Amino acid sequence: MRVVATDRHAAHAPSGFIARGNRVANPETPERAAIFRRAVEAGGHAVIEAGGHGLAPVAAIHAADYLEFLETGWAEWEQLPDHAPEILPNVHPGRNMSIHPTHIVGKAGHYQADTACPIGPGTWEGARASADVAVSAADMVAADGAPAYALCRPPGHHAYADQAGGFCFLNNSAIAAQRLRESGAKRVTILDVDVHHGNGTQGIFYRRADVQTVSIHGDPHAYYPFFTGYADEIGAGPGRGANLNLPLPRGTGDAGYLDTLEGALAAVEAFRPDVLVVALGLDPSEKDPLAFLAVTTDGFGRIGERIGRTGYPTLIVQEGGYISDILGDNLAAVLAGFETGRR
Ligand code: ZN
Repeated sequence: MRVVATDRHAAHAPSGFIARGNRVANPETPERAAIFRRAVEAGGHAVIEAGGHGLAPVAAIHAADYLEFLETGWAEWEQLPDHAPEILPNVHPGRNMSIHPTHIVGKAGHYQADTACPIGPGTWEGARASADVAVSAADMVAADGAPAYALCRPPGHHAYADQAGGFCFLNNSAIAAQRLRESGAKRVTILDVDVHHGNGTQGIFYRRADVQTVSIHGDPHAYYPFFTGYADEIGAGPGRGANLNLPLPRGTGDAGYLDTLEGALAAVEAFRPDVLVVALGLDPSEKDPLAFLAVTTDGFGRIGERIGRTGYPTLIVQEGGYISDILGDNLAAVLAGFETGRR
């Protein structure tokens, strides 16, 4: 498996977020990428440095005003007296408010969906680096159809066209899918196996018929992102029928997960994509610090093998998955399983 990576992500090193009312350590740390890198190197996969792709592939997905906020928000924040070391929103537009704010505190509430996407001085650089990884890997798949793994960090699937959320700023999987479309793929599927609903990805493509979005995740009645991820969200307008949500009950293990994956892949088969983008969260793990499902390392191998067996030109994009003693093993299992399935 070709692996694309860069160390430039480390400019983004968030310290905190708020969970159950407590300010706690942010689990989306640069160390995650180091663990992934050690795992792929130990697995004998070739690691290729990401190129720089400029803003165009990012701007093909994200709104210009949102990108300006990500790029310049920190400089505004720094001017505030007694500012914290990261931009964290403390007020959000409620359902009866619609004014587009101009003050940095208002902008934070407008552009940051929750407290899990703090912005520090290096966030823009780190998020851009992560998007570059996705674009470089997408270009490889577009060029020859052989699979590639994009070692992205920070993750992307909770980022909407104009909003950060859930450790995500730029939607790497969406940026890659759009890049693949522009490289000639007529239909692209994004299959999201992160334990959290891929709400940003769903939002970006909700009205489009050319990019199918399928997400298997913990039931949002009781889990982040709470407000989306339900089975009755099927797409709208031209995109009606091209969005599939498969929420799973807490504690679902390998057998239940693999059953659901069969259903997801049947929908993918019906869509007949030219390219498959796998939004690979490793947080369905039984040992993930944010655990909701209970997939084992063996289960991750079988998930990878089943996806590999589909035979589509495939780009695997790293999404979530947080530090436990088996995080690297789970990535190694998915990639090895995928290669077994492809043979
Ligand atoms: Zn996740």
